[in-house]
Amino acid sequence: MSIETPSTPERSDFIREIVAADLRQGRNQTVVTRFPPEPNGYLHIGHAKSICLNFGIASEFGGCCHLRFDDTNPMKEEQEYIDSIETDVHWLGFDWGQHLYFASDYFEQLYEWAVDLIKSGKAYVDDLSADEIREYRGTLTEPGKDSPWRNRSTEESIDLFARMRSGEFPNGSRVLRAKLDMAAPNINLRDPILYRIVHAEHPRTGNAWCVYPTYDFAHGQSDAIEGITHSICTLEFQDHRPLYDWLIENLPVPSHPHQYEFARLNLTHTVLSKRVLIRLVNEERVRGWDDPRMPTLSGLRRRGFPARGIRDFTTMVGVARADGVVEVEMLEHAVRDVLNRTALRRFGVLDPLKVIIENYPEGQVEEIEALNNPEDPSAGTRRVPFTRELWIERDDFMEEPVKKFFRLAPGREVRLRSAYFVTCREVVKDADGRVIELRCTYDPDTRGGAAPDGRRPKATLHWVSAAHAVRAEIRLYDHLFTSPFPGAAGRELFEDLNPESEIVRQGCFVEPSLADLAVGETVQFERLGYFCADPDSAAGALVFNRTLTLKDTWAKLQAQGRQNEA
Ligand code: ATP
Ligand code: MG
Repeated sequence: MSIETPSTPERSDFIREIVAADLRQGRNQTVVTRFPPEPNGYLHIGHAKSICLNFGIASEFGGCCHLRFDDTNPMKEEQEYIDSIETDVHWLGFDWGQHLYFASDYFEQLYEWAVDLIKSGKAYVDDLSADEIREYRGTLTEPGKDSPWRNRSTEESIDLFARMRSGEFPNGSRVLRAKLDMAAPNINLRDPILYRIVHAEHPRTGNAWCVYPTYDFAHGQSDAIEGITHSICTLEFQDHRPLYDWLIENLPVPSHPHQYEFARLNLTHTVLSKRVLIRLVNEERVRGWDDPRMPTLSGLRRRGFPARGIRDFTTMVGVARADGVVEVEMLEHAVRDVLNRTALRRFGVLDPLKVIIENYPEGQVEEIEALNNPEDPSAGTRRVPFTRELWIERDDFMEEPVKKFFRLAPGREVRLRSAYFVTCREVVKDADGRVIELRCTYDPDTRGGAAPDGRRPKATLHWVSAAHAVRAEIRLYDHLFTSPFPGAAGRELFEDLNPESEIVRQGCFVEPSLADLAVGETVQFERLGYFCADPDSAAGALVFNRTLTLKDTWAKLQAQGRQNEA
């Protein structure tokens, strides 16, 4: 797999072309798509690509998109996952309206069709064990062998299948298989399993069933029942398509959907396998499915990523026919692009250093007017209290400034954003020599951040009035995996976990207006990055997550990539 150069963000791709042609040439009167998650985990950014594609196509072509739960494996599926998936699809900005379906709604119909197949000699009950079935299946280079049960009578298969259903047999003792061709070059056609025995409670059908259809048997038939026109899935199902088509042709289904495959989304520094995500949660490597470092939609939401940014990203990535890996920085770029336009600017100080303005009257409070968003004048202004004692960022000061450090230093003047120019007069240290306070003076003629004589300090700092500051915990997030290709070159996947993916800072200070920032809203802390309130936040114990820093590394990576190609 290679790093993919994203296509231009325009909305056409081979699937949209197929849909457009089908409508134009009258093969379909309308377009019906579906998003078919298995409720065995939370949705992730890869699913977002599939959701945007399926719902996007339906809306662009005036059709509709169904949400269908592929709930055919009760061992792994849970109501919690069903609920989270509905929440996440809505949050991403899509609506299935009346079209919420469950494969389990079709269990009775699917069972009847399975019986039809047996009756027409196209399916049989096999008594081989799972291991034996695997042995008989052959390999990519060797044909399989017929099961000794393959030619048992239709009557016997019908009887056994009914008894499988009624619960007479234990898990794994028998399966129903299609009778296709054990020598077929495509392994999926070597008598694929249609039904297995699973004695387990199902989140929706309870204990009504103990035989469950496989994905292959349930999926296409569910598509046909719902009148799906374009069944869009990822490339790993390409080799299943002949079976999909065979079942549609050999069953009395009410419509004839077609399957199309596209490349799944892969991201650097990210793992998108539900199996691994479940492990991260169960082994408590993260705070849960919605940990802000998780690539789940609930994690990205908690991290402060707006749904719009995720949708824009999927448009930028486009729809490809071959697998590739997209740089996670491109996702971050899309999110910054939205936040830069929409996020309100606020002041927050991560690592506070006290500033005392000696010539500023004690007890005086000035309400400074500050812009909410320089990119959007309609966002207006807010008032920020300014007083004699302030907090600034510790690393905005250097006692012995190095070359190119233009911020505060002894004797130097800087601008405090939207407020005044201040000059550092004295550095106060504790017994260990650590700087604990800066004594400064201000120039009263520079209110609002401009001097009548036109002098311009080289740096502008953010600040918070000490008397008004609200204390907060701030969680700084970075990629969950250090390596762009986690687990590559034979490494144990979790060895690549980034030990600094979450850094928790206590004792930060933010401006008072942030005390009631709603969960779900992301703001820009000026000069630091984008931040949002975490659901752990409570009155008097605020918690913020750093969504992203301000530095957009994607453009740089792009430039490097072009250089490497040259
Ligand atoms: P995983 O491999 O993580 O277990 P899955 O494919 O088994 O995921 P499903 O719930 O079956 O998860 O997926 C629902 C739909 O989302 C399927 O149509 C699948 O093709 C699509 N999908 C899953 N992962 C991706 C991805 N990384 N990129 C694009 N589409 C995806
Ligand atoms: Mg799947």
